[in-house]
Amino acid sequence: MDIRLDRPSLISWLEEERPDRLAELYEAAYNTKLSTVGDKVYLRGLVEISNICRKNCLYCGIRRDNRNTGRYEISVDNVLDAAEFAFRDGYGSLVIQGGERMDRAFIDKITHILKEIKKRWPLGITLSLGEQSKDVYREWFEAGAHRYLLRIESSDKQLYERIHPVDPLHSYRTRIQALKDLRDCGYQVGTGVMIGLPFQNAWNLADDLLFFKKMDIDMCGMGPYLEHSGTPLYSYRHLLLPKERRLELSVTMVALLRLLMPDINIAATTAMQAIDPFGREKAIMAGANVLMPNLTLAEVRDEYQIYQNKPGAGEDAAISSSITERRLREMKIPIGRDQWGDSIHFSRRH
Ligand code: SAH
Ligand code: SF4
Repeated sequence: MDIRLDRPSLISWLEEERPDRLAELYEAAYNTKLSTVGDKVYLRGLVEISNICRKNCLYCGIRRDNRNTGRYEISVDNVLDAAEFAFRDGYGSLVIQGGERMDRAFIDKITHILKEIKKRWPLGITLSLGEQSKDVYREWFEAGAHRYLLRIESSDKQLYERIHPVDPLHSYRTRIQALKDLRDCGYQVGTGVMIGLPFQNAWNLADDLLFFKKMDIDMCGMGPYLEHSGTPLYSYRHLLLPKERRLELSVTMVALLRLLMPDINIAATTAMQAIDPFGREKAIMAGANVLMPNLTLAEVRDEYQIYQNKPGAGEDAAISSSITERRLREMKIPIGRDQWGDSIHFSRRH
């Protein structure tokens, strides 16, 4: 099938709901994946290092002003345990994610963790720790991180400003600058958006895809927006699409992005799994090639509720990872064991 990817065509795909048409799109994207990045899925063990955050994003359950969540920060040893688990289980990589903090103690802790991991195991390391100064990005790169995920959340400045407080701490321009700084420091850069936000339409989503292309990103992680009752955006929940449609739109976004940027890495995200136990697998069948099983310590998992009913609550690393692997086996999706699974797009650019 010949699929056009100009803006009007992207918009009409994002408005498409006929299952047979969508199945054709997903198949085309899957075939593109096979011929560019291959059939393997790469695993990155996810460690949610802390839910302490200086920001107040209007959608996020761990925003600074949500007083109804306990705050935690896991120890260096806990992160090293997760890294060891990832390495032993044949995951090529680790993702360290958390709330945004710029205090020196936190920055030093991350630098220390990166160096310790690199001393012990040949793991690839992705960071997802929000906006930082260019010097900090450089420090972490030199300590061993080589990929960074920083979602733009929405590439439309107006929509960005409806889902964030409008103040210097939540500036759209600073976020764009951070993505450029990451690129300058040598990282493989990943970004992404939330799908099905209140006030968002098919035009916005098409523009998000074109934004990824224009920014020439190496990786993408995007997923459905899920409302959280402890956040200001919850009061707009009557504007939301049904959850199943938000998931379908997310899978369609994955497929269109695979066709638009055939050799980047695209993640099948946990929020997809929150809507449908097989949500991530659907994204894989539509072009995604990265999965991030949660390796966060069971004791603190419930407190990393960026949205409610996050899957995997109470599970430990061994359970989450065996569930993921069993599903992949059942669906005959091969795993790229013991490999970093770097973005081919990045290597080609260099
Ligand atoms: N603090 C870092 C990383 C942790 S948040 C940062 O913001 O970059 C990671 C991602 O969780 C965010 O980029 C956002 O896209 C997603 N997220 C937050 N709240 C969400 C919600 N209610 N529904 C779906 N995704 C959400
Ligand atoms: Fe903090 Fe990230 Fe949540 Fe925003 S999305 S409140 S920066 S954890």
